[in-house]
Formats: sequence, structure tokens, C-alpha cells
Amino acid sequence: MNYIDEVRAAVAARNAGQPEFMQAVDEVLSTIRPVVESDSVYKENAILERITEPDRQIMFRVPWTDDNGNMRINRGYRIQFNNAIGPYKGGLRLHPTVNLSIIKFLGFEQIFKNSLTGLPIGGGKGGSDFDPKGKSEREIRDFCQSFMTELARHIGADTDVPAGDIGVGGREIGYLYGQYKRIKNLYEGVLTGKGLTYGGSLARTEATGYGLVYIVADMLAAENTGFKGKTVAISGSGNVAIYAAQKATELGGKVITMSDSNGWIYDPDGIKLDIVKDIKEVKRGRIKEYADRVKSAEYHDSGKVWQVKCDIALPCATQNELDASDAKTLVKNKVLAVGEGANMPSVTDAINLFREHKVLFMPAKAANAGGVAVSALEMSQNSQRLSWTFEEVDSKLKDIMNGIFAKTAEAAKAYAEKKDYVSGANIAGFLKVANAMIAQGV
Ligand code: NDP
Repeated sequence: MNYIDEVRAAVAARNAGQPEFMQAVDEVLSTIRPVVESDSVYKENAILERITEPDRQIMFRVPWTDDNGNMRINRGYRIQFNNAIGPYKGGLRLHPTVNLSIIKFLGFEQIFKNSLTGLPIGGGKGGSDFDPKGKSEREIRDFCQSFMTELARHIGADTDVPAGDIGVGGREIGYLYGQYKRIKNLYEGVLTGKGLTYGGSLARTEATGYGLVYIVADMLAAENTGFKGKTVAISGSGNVAIYAAQKATELGGKVITMSDSNGWIYDPDGIKLDIVKDIKEVKRGRIKEYADRVKSAEYHDSGKVWQVKCDIALPCATQNELDASDAKTLVKNKVLAVGEGANMPSVTDAINLFREHKVLFMPAKAANAGGVAVSALEMSQNSQRLSWTFEEVDSKLKDIMNGIFAKTAEAAKAYAEKKDYVSGANIAGFLKVANAMIAQGV
């Protein structure tokens, strides 16, 4: 067996029962082969064994009380995966499906994504199997305070800087930050995605969705086309989906679908985002309500948004939401480009189908790096005790996304095929981290 296959087998044996983590590892290992095999230095320094094993895995009990006075217990996680190029950085996810495999896959992906941004941030991820849906404000606050009571001892502005993810938005970050301050008596940039009155950055809320559209626009521009006049199918209706829809519309695209975990909407006239924002950001309601309020829209509680014919598909909900049969339908409907707003939303067979049919495909590590990039800009502003304007941050975000596209395209051309952005992103992200690890010794 060669080095990569040996490591792959060892990682699989040692992480049995962690399918999402293995899926993420497989994708990276299979695409960095040309680099790893071109130089024995990676094997000599056991880089693959080291990069697939987290620096630290923290699991803890999170006790909280519900509104009926019952003691409830959830499990908390923080995976500090790799800090070769900067403090651990990555979001916290609150969702009932959260387990070790999912947090490890997210933490592993984060290493390469953060490297691609060109900013000094390492990879980490955390969360809990707590389900925020249907919980009262008090229950959410109680949970967040309890979660931070344990997490506080493991993080810090120069150690590990968590942020939001599924189920964690401005409200949760506020409660987490408040508790961190009480415990540590430190007013420091230990979390990103904070409110604007206490250290948050303008444009952080928009960053992942905007960044996704900026990089997909770069990919389209390389084919002499753009969003103008294109139909766009988006899944999800959370933070990433909403701001991807906003920027795609601004650039002349027509967003025709959105979804949540109960169902999806199709509006052939173009989704009215003010209504989606009112439902999701203000009332915390269900996407179904859109169809009650907008005549031109249909609501479906079965099937997926990918059955609607579109030019550009932006999966922005969750992992493995776009399977091979969805990819087949998209290909049949002549989709031009796919950009992954969510983390690992496409299963491996779907990616292979897109590749086979020459669909332009921008993988999550590159496509959704805008969020963490602006989080790193929030860290810079906190360190300087300064706040930049929306325009300044947005323009830096655009430059960062342009830079990621350039690096990804360059690495694809040098080591794989010209438009193989999956390989390009993995290779470009890997090289910087691997070289830093070698320079630092074990
Ligand atoms: P939100 O919680 O704001 O929104 C998630 C959306 O996806 C909601 O519409 C949710 O529906 C839907 N969803 C979540 N889980 C499922 C599921 N199992 N099945 C169907 N639909 C589901 O999260 P974000 O928008 O922040 O995150 C979305 C994705 O983007 C995630 O993969 C995240 O890791 C990734 N990401 C987020 C970044 C950020 O800055 N926020 C940065 C980079 C990546 P419902 O409300 O019904 O649960």
C-alpha cells in the first residue's frame, strides 16, 4: 500500500462509526495525492497522520433546566483540530443531529478553509445535540450559559475563537459572550459574530452568503458569464441562504427556491427576501408561511428544491443534502454551476456526477470561507479596538474571495485539471498548513 492508502486505512480503523468524518477525510486524501506523492517530505514528517488527528477533543456534560423545572442534559463538544497557522477558529452548532463524527468532519474541513482565506486562523469546531427549536428565550439562555461555563476554560482570544453555525446566531453568541465575561473577567474577542454594540463586525451576518456569491461570480466570470439573467435555486433559509439570495438578486439573478427542514418554496417570480427575513429572522417561523403570504409561490413538504430547473444551484442548508439523484436531476435540467454554501452538502457521488458532466462546481471549503474570513477580520478589529465600516469589510471580503478563487484555480491547473476546483481548494489549503507543520516540528 502506498502512503495515502495506508493512512486512510489507519484513520478508518481508528475512527469507526464516524461516516461524516471519514467522508471529509476521503475527499481531502484522494485529491492531495499529486502533491503528497511529489515530495517525500510529507511522509517523512507523518503529515497525513498528524493532520487527520485532532490536537484535542473536548466532550462535556451540559446540564440546564427547562421551563417546567426539569433538569435536562445535553452533550457539548469542542474539537481543537489544528493550530499550525493560528488560533483554533470555527463555529458552534446546536442541532439534535450533532455527534462526534459531525463535529470532527466540520473541524477537519475548517483547517483547509481557514488556510485558503490567507488569514492566520487554525481549524476547530464545536456544538451540542441541544435542539433550539421550540425552546423559550429563557431555556436558550440557560443552555448557553451552562455550555459556556465549561467551554470557557478551553478557549481564549489567542487560543480558540468560536463563532456561530447552524442554530447559533447573534442571540446565542450574545448569551455565550456574556457568560464568558462573567467567568473570566476579560473583555476580549473570544467569540465572533458578536452584536455590533459589543465588538461585532459589520458585514459578518452577510459574509458567508455574500462570499459564496462573490466566488461563484468569479467562477462564472472565468467562463465569460455571470449571475445576470440566471435562475438560482437555493436550499435552506438560514443565515447563509438568506444573504446568498440577497447578493445573487443584487447581481441580477432570480432566486426561485428556498427551504427549511419541513419543506420548500418555489416562487417563479423570484423570492421576496423581505418576507423571508420577516418569517425567519423576526418571527422565527417556518418557510411554509411564505406561500401563505405570496400568491405566486408554491409550498411542498416532500421532495427537494433541486427538482426545479435552474441555472445555478446553491445548497445552503446542511451536510449531505444533495445526493446523486438530485445531481442527476440538476444535470438533466442543464445546471451550469453549483456553489456549496453549506459544509459538505453534496455527497461524493453527486460531486462525481457534476465533474463527469462538466458542471462548474465550487466546493464548500472555498465557497463558504467568507464567514470565517470576516470572523478573522472581527478578531483584527477587536485587537485594534476599532470598527471598520460596512463598505471596508465588504470590500476586504470580496478581495479575500477573489484571492481564494485565484489560489484554487491555480492549484487546480498546477496539480489536477484546469477546472477541478475540488482538488484545487484542497491542495492550496493543505500546502500552507502542511508546510507550517513541518517548519514547527512535531
Ligand atoms: P442556520 O441555522 O441559520 O440555517 C440552517 C438552514 O438549513 C435552516 O433553514 C434549516 O432549517 C436548514 N437545515 C438545517 N439542518 C437541516 C436538516 N438536517 N435538513 C434540512 N434542512 C436543514 O445555519 P447557517 O445558515 O448558519 O448554516 C447553514 C450551513 O452553512 C451549515 O452547513 C453551516 O455549517 C454552513 N456554514 C455557515 C456559516 C455561517 O457563517 N453561518 C459559515 C460557513 C458554513 P430549519 O430551520 O428547519 O432547521
